[in-house]
Amino acid sequence: MNKIYLDNAATTPINSEVLAEMMPYFDSVYGNPSSLHSFGREAKAAVEKARAKIAKGIGCNPSEIYFTSGATEANNWAIRGLAYAYAKRGNHIITSKIEHPSVLETCKQLEKEGFKVTYLDVDKFGFVRLDQLLHVIDKNTTLISIMSANNEIGTIQNIQAIANIAKEKGVLFHTDATQAIGAINIDVVEMGIDALSMSAHKINGPKGIGALYLKKGTVIQKFMNGGEQEKNMRAGTTNTPLVVGFGKAVELATMDIIPNAKKLSMLRNYFIKEVLTRIELTNLNGHSIQRLPNNVSISFGMVEGESLLFMLDMAGIAVSTGSACASGSLEESHVLKAIGLNPDLVQGTIRFTLSKSTTKSEIDYVIEQLEKIIKQLRKVSPITRAQVGKIKSQGEK
Ligand SMILES: *Cc1c(COP(=O)(O)O)cnc(C)c1O
Repeated sequence: MNKIYLDNAATTPINSEVLAEMMPYFDSVYGNPSSLHSFGREAKAAVEKARAKIAKGIGCNPSEIYFTSGATEANNWAIRGLAYAYAKRGNHIITSKIEHPSVLETCKQLEKEGFKVTYLDVDKFGFVRLDQLLHVIDKNTTLISIMSANNEIGTIQNIQAIANIAKEKGVLFHTDATQAIGAINIDVVEMGIDALSMSAHKINGPKGIGALYLKKGTVIQKFMNGGEQEKNMRAGTTNTPLVVGFGKAVELATMDIIPNAKKLSMLRNYFIKEVLTRIELTNLNGHSIQRLPNNVSISFGMVEGESLLFMLDMAGIAVSTGSACASGSLEESHVLKAIGLNPDLVQGTIRFTLSKSTTKSEIDYVIEQLEKIIKQLRKVSPITRAQVGKIKSQGEK
C-alpha cells in the first residue's frame, strides 16, 4: 500500500539535498567549531555559511542568528530571556490564546514567577484582535509574542500590523514563525520583528535544531551556562551537521516561496472544496484565504476525530486530530476552543497538512476514503445531528 503523509505540520521528511550536505560533517569534518586548529576552522566555516543562509532567509544579519535545539527552545528562551532582561522596565507580557504550548507554558511559568501575562482572544478565524491588543498594552508591557501562523488551523496573523503596534508603543515583538518559514515571505527588518523562532524539521531539515533571531541591540538573558558558543549566550558544542542541514533547508524553503505557495494553495483549495461539498456536516476551521498553503483543518460533525484518524491510518493516510500537539491525550485543542468551535465539532476535527510533493491523485484517494469512512462512523456515532446543528452557520465565511 502506498502511504500518504498529510501531517507535515508535525514534522517533515528530510530533503535529500539537505541530507547530502550534512553527511560529511558527521565523519570527515568532525572538528569542534570552537577549536582553533584546521579541523575546527573547517567546521566553523560550514557553521557560519549555514548561519548566513538562515539570516538571508529572513532578511537579517548572520550575527543576529543564535542556534538552538529547535523552536521549543527558541520560544522558551525568547520569552523568558526577554521578560527577565527587561524586567526593570515592566513585568507585563502579551501573547495569544492560540500559541504553541512552548509559548503558553513558558508564559504560565512566568506568571508563577511574578510576571503578568495577557492572553489575547482571537476571532472565529483565529485572528488576534488588534483593538484588544491596543487596549491591553500599558506602561509595564515589555513584550508581545504572537505566532506568525498557527500550526493547527493555519491562520496567518497580520504580523505587520502587530509589529507596527509594538513599535509604536515601544514594546518588543517576538514571533514564533515555525510554520510560516517557507510559506510566506518574512523580512524581519522590513516587518519590524525584534525576535523570531524557527525550526529545521518543519521545513524538510533535520530534527533537533532551530534558531532564535534576535535583533541587534536587544538584550536577553543567556539561555545556557557553559562555554562561549553562540556569542556566549547559548553554551554547548555546536552540532555542525544539524546546523549545515538547517542552513540548506532554509535556503531551499525560502526559494520561490510565492510560486510554491500558489501551487500548493490550489491543491489545498481543491481538497477543501471537495470535502465540504461532498461530505455533509463539515466545517473549515481558520480563514479560507489567509491560511497556510498546506493547511486543511476540517471538523466533521457526528464523528469522533480519533476514530477517523485510526481508520484513515488503516487506509494508509496519516493525519492528526484537533488536539494536534497533545496527541495521545484526549484533552481538547486550546486553539479550537479559542475560535469558539462547538465542542461536538472540536472532537471531530482533523488536520491535514500537505507538502510540495503531495499529488492530486493522493488527494482524490483521501477524499474517497473520507467519504467512505465517515459514512461508516456516522452510522454508529453517539453524537447526534442536533448536537452539531449549528455547523452551517459556523462554516459560512
Ligand atoms: C513544531 C512547532 C514548534 C516546536 O518546534 P520544535 O523544533 O519541534 O521544538 C513551535 N511552534 C510551532 C508553531 C510549531 O509548529
